[in-house]
Amino acid sequence: MATPRLVEDFHHETLRDRHFAERIVFWDETLRDGEQMPGVHFTPEEKLRIAEKLGEVGIPLLNAGIPVVSDEEARAVRLLADAGLPSKILAAGRTVPRDIDAVIRSGASHIAIFVAASEVHLRYKLKMTQDEVVAASTASIAQAKAAGLHVAFVTEDTVRAPFDFVERLYQAALESGADRLVVSDTVGIMTPLTFRWYLTEFVRRLHPRDWSVHCHNDFGLAVANTLTALELGATSPHVCVNGLGERAGNASLEEVAVALESLYGVRTGLKTEKLYELSRLVEEVAGVPVAVNKSLVGYNSFSHEAGIHTHGILANTLTYEPLQPEAVGRKRQMILGKHTGRAAVIEKLKEREARPTDTQLEELVQQVKLRGEGRSKAEYGRFVEEYRRLYEQPGISDAEFWEIAQKLGIGTRTA
Ligand code: MN
Repeated sequence: MATPRLVEDFHHETLRDRHFAERIVFWDETLRDGEQMPGVHFTPEEKLRIAEKLGEVGIPLLNAGIPVVSDEEARAVRLLADAGLPSKILAAGRTVPRDIDAVIRSGASHIAIFVAASEVHLRYKLKMTQDEVVAASTASIAQAKAAGLHVAFVTEDTVRAPFDFVERLYQAALESGADRLVVSDTVGIMTPLTFRWYLTEFVRRLHPRDWSVHCHNDFGLAVANTLTALELGATSPHVCVNGLGERAGNASLEEVAVALESLYGVRTGLKTEKLYELSRLVEEVAGVPVAVNKSLVGYNSFSHEAGIHTHGILANTLTYEPLQPEAVGRKRQMILGKHTGRAAVIEKLKEREARPTDTQLEELVQQVKLRGEGRSKAEYGRFVEEYRRLYEQPGISDAEFWEIAQKLGIGTRTA
């Protein structure tokens, strides 16, 4: 019989087709795109707490926010820029002079200048022509470069834009001194294969030294698409802790990082064993619970209940786990319930050095199963109800909105 192979062996054999960058610079978007998630907002102090933990994990670049949004947002960027964090601080702005000014004044060393590229965005949102977009972009890049900033040039909705325009716009950005180009799949429509085609063409036409992707999870493909880009040499993936972000979120930081380390053997330089702490902190501060079955950081990702599985795990954890829970700062959990088998019960009894007779053991296993099957689901039902009540309409309620409006004398019907 052939020796069983570890997951790493399968993947390492196909590394020939992969061209990972020498150094991957994780670009965290939790404090910007993550915060743009409906219902989520961070105070400057909360942003700092998260930024400190991101720094401990070793994330080299943090998008702190868009300073022109509000005074509070500008204060947040300033707070992070002045905190002496190990990570570089980036702030974002549109291709308008006052946005770039706000970033320059914020103390951030890096800027992301963003503009939409697709026809649907240009026509309906920006109401700008392609020529106007190119002119505004190059002027903004020049303004930021003159102030000594590291400039990432981001196009929104890149993949739905005409390719020739994307090429022209990025070429102009590079000529104006942009240090890094960012390709966005703003509405999450790429698949790994289409993105591979797209990015191969992007690299062939533009030869960027340093480039990022910004992937959304509308079809659950953000991580897969981000990994595809990294396989092709992307240097700086955009990620969010717990996959937070607009709509269905962005590529999850922990999933991209651990997939690189465990599936491809790529060293990220991150302290992955701190990822669970980071996930828990963001869960608390954002107030967005991590799904029980979320990869790596969900409660179930290293839990086992089924008899056959626990038996295998107790014999050798490789049977039913692709990596050790300690790799992300977690512990394995054995769950006792309806699906429990003998092996798990024997293991549990070791805690008190109990040695039952065969009949006792058989009876104990049956009783555990019965107890599991008979457990009331009422508490979980109440939790689901509460969860729905809180999340079906996050943000301010209808009643609150109309109260504010009426105080201002708006929308008060006087029949
Ligand atoms: Mn986004």
